[in-house]
Amino acid sequence: MSRLIIVTENEAQKTVEGLYRDLERRIQASQPGLCPVDLAEAFLHICHAQSCGKCTPCRVGLGQLEKLMESVLDGSADMETLTTIEKTADAIYHSADCAIGFEAAKMVLRGIRGFYDDYAEHVKHGRCNAKQSQPVPCVSLCPAHVDVPGYVSLIHEGRYAEAVQLIRKDNPFPAACGLICEHPCELRCRRTMVDKAINIRGLKRYAVEHEGEIKVPKIMDKTGKKVAVVGGGPSGLSAAYYLSIMGHDVTVYEQRKQLGGMLRYGIPAYRLPREILNHEIDGLMKTGFQVKTDVSIGKDISLAQLKREFDAVYVSIGAHTDKKLGIPGEDAEGVISAVEMLRNIGDDIYPDFTGLNVVVVGGGNVAMDVARSAIRLGAKTVKVAYRRRRVDMTALPEEVEGAIADGCDIVELHSPVRIEKDEKGHCKGIVLKPQIIGGVRYGRPSPKDSQAPEVEMKADLVLVAIGQGIDFRKFEEYQGITIESGRINALDTSALQNAEGIFAGGDCVTGPATVIRAIAAGKTAAANIDEYLGFFHEIESDIVLPPVRFDDNAPTGRVNMKERPADERVLDFKLMEYGMTDEEACQESGRCLHCDHFGYGIFKGGRENKW
Ligand SMILES: Cc1cc2nc3c(=O)[nH]c(=O)nc-3n(C[C@H](O)[C@H](O)[C@H](O)COP(=O)(O)OP(=O)(O)OC[C@H]3O[C@@H](n4cnc5c(N)ncnc54)[C@H](O)[C@@H]3O)c2cc1C
Ligand code: SF4
Ligand code: SF4
Repeated sequence: MSRLIIVTENEAQKTVEGLYRDLERRIQASQPGLCPVDLAEAFLHICHAQSCGKCTPCRVGLGQLEKLMESVLDGSADMETLTTIEKTADAIYHSADCAIGFEAAKMVLRGIRGFYDDYAEHVKHGRCNAKQSQPVPCVSLCPAHVDVPGYVSLIHEGRYAEAVQLIRKDNPFPAACGLICEHPCELRCRRTMVDKAINIRGLKRYAVEHEGEIKVPKIMDKTGKKVAVVGGGPSGLSAAYYLSIMGHDVTVYEQRKQLGGMLRYGIPAYRLPREILNHEIDGLMKTGFQVKTDVSIGKDISLAQLKREFDAVYVSIGAHTDKKLGIPGEDAEGVISAVEMLRNIGDDIYPDFTGLNVVVVGGGNVAMDVARSAIRLGAKTVKVAYRRRRVDMTALPEEVEGAIADGCDIVELHSPVRIEKDEKGHCKGIVLKPQIIGGVRYGRPSPKDSQAPEVEMKADLVLVAIGQGIDFRKFEEYQGITIESGRINALDTSALQNAEGIFAGGDCVTGPATVIRAIAAGKTAAANIDEYLGFFHEIESDIVLPPVRFDDNAPTGRVNMKERPADERVLDFKLMEYGMTDEEACQESGRCLHCDHFGYGIFKGGRENKW
C-alpha cells in the first residue's frame, strides 16, 4: 500500500468540467427576454448544489428558498410568499458562513427587488410578465435592429447588394459599421450554444465590399416640410437620410469643414479609411439633403432662428470638448487633448512625432487610438499611463493587445500627479503616483495611492484621453432645453419635453457612446419627427429572403478577422484589418442558426419588414 498517489482527473470530473463549459456558453447565449424568475430559480439550484453542507443557512435555507421560488412558478404562492422569500434570503445573506451561501442569497435578494413585478405577475396571473418578449438576440441587441439573420442568409446566397440594401433599411452606415462597430449584436448570439458567435460585423464588411454601385432608395413624394439637422455625425446624417427618403426637405449644419463627426474627427484612418467614409457619405447625400459646412449653430446662426425657419430641428452635436486632468503643469506646451489631436488628423493635418517620447493618459478606446496613432506618427516611445489595472481598462481587449503589438507600453496602476516643464514652458516629463488596487466601488475595484514613491516619466508630449464632454452652452440658452449630468435631456422618442419641434439624440444625449447607438438615435428621431410633422411614412424592404437551411448544426470554428503584421501596419495609416475571403464568408454565413425562424414565435409577430 502506497502512502501517496498522483491524483489524475477521473472520467466523471472530466465530464463535469465539460458540462461547466457548456453551461457557460449557454449562459452567454441567454437571449434577452427570458423569464427572470425562472432564471433566478435555476441559478439558485446550481448554487445550492455547490453547498458544502457545513452551515445550516446555506444547506437548509437555500433549499427552502428553492421551494418558495418553485411555488411562485407553479402558481401555488401568494403575495405573502414574496415577503417570505425576501426575509429568508436576507437571513441567509447575514448568517451563511461563506460566499457559496451568502452570494446565492444576495442574488435572490437582488432579483426580488430588481424584478418584483415579474414575481407578482406569476403570483397573480400565473404567467410571465406580459412585457417580456423573446426577440431574436442579434436583432434586438443591435441598437438599430438591423435584420441580421436576413442579411446573413442573403450573403450565403451570394446576393450581396440585396444584403446591404436590407442593412440600410435600419442602418445607413453599413461600410463604417462593417469596420468599426462594437457589434453588441454578437454578445448573445445563439450560435454560442454550439461553438462561437457569428462574426456579424465581419460579414457586414464582406457584403459591402461586394455590393457594387450604391442603390439610392426610392424617395417618397415631397411633403413641403423643412427639417434642420445640427451636426453632421452619424446620428445627424442617419436622421437626414431617412427624413429625405420620407420626402422632407432637410438641411444639415456642420461646424467643421467636412461631414462625418467622430467617424472622421475621432476614429483614425487605419481603422476607417477616409475614402470608404467619403464614399458612404456621398451615397447618403444622393437622397437629396442639403449640407452647410463651416456653420456653427449657436455662433453663426442661433437655434431660435433655425427653429423659426424650419418646421422641426434635430440636435446631434456629439461630445467634442476635452476633459482636463486637473493637475499642476497641465498648461505646459506639449500637453494636448486626444480630441484635439484626432480632430487635426481628421482634416488630414498629420503632426510629426518623430523621435518624441509620448505619454498617453487614459484607458479607454480613445486612449488606444491616440497611442497607436502616435506610433504611426513616428514617436520614439509611447507609454499609456492608466490609474487602474490593465484588466480594468474600458478599451476593448483586442484594442489593448493591438496597441501593445504596435509597440505601446501599458503602464498600469499609475496616476498622474503633475507635469514637469522646461524653462521654455514645454513639458518634459510627467510625475505619476503608483497605485494599489483597492475596494470595489460602483462594481469596479478602485485604485488608491500605494506606499511606493512617485516616479517621473520622460515626456516630450502628453496626450490626455480621459473622456469628452458636451458643449451645450449655446443650446442651454434656448427656452425648454434642459441639461442633466452634462447632457441634453431628451425623451426616449428623441423629443425634448418642453421645446416643441426640437429633437435631440446621439452622444449629446447619451454621453460618449458608440456609432451604432448614434445611428439608432437618428433613425428614432426621423420616425418621430415625421410623425410630429403629421405623417406616417414607412421605411420598408421588399427583399425576399432565401429559404431556411437545415445544414448548420455541425460545430465549426468562427472566422475571425486578421490584421496586417504589426511591423508593417505601424508605418502608415492604411486600413489595418483584412476582409474575409469568399470561402470564409460562405462558411461563416452558413453557421447562422436562423433564430428568426426557429424558436422565436413571438418575434413581434414575425419578421419586421418596415418601421
Ligand atoms: C477616438 C474615438 C474613437 C471611437 N471609436 C469608435 C469605434 O471604434 N466604434 C464605435 O462604435 N464608436 C467609436 N467612437 C464613438 C463614436 O464615434 C461616437 O459615439 C459617434 O460618432 C457619435 O455620433 P454623433 O452623431 O452623436 O456625434 P458626432 O460623431 O460627434 O458628430 C457630431 C457632429 O456635430 C458637429 N457639431 C457640434 N456642435 C455643432 C454646432 N454647434 N453646430 C454645428 N455642428 C456642430 C460636430 O462637429 C460633429 O461633426 C469613437 C469616438 C472617438 C472619439
Ligand atoms: S450595425 Fe453593429 S450592432 Fe448592428 S448588426 Fe451590424 S455589427 Fe451588429
Ligand atoms: S445564430 Fe444567427 S440569427 Fe441567431 S443570434 Fe446568431 S446571428 Fe442571430
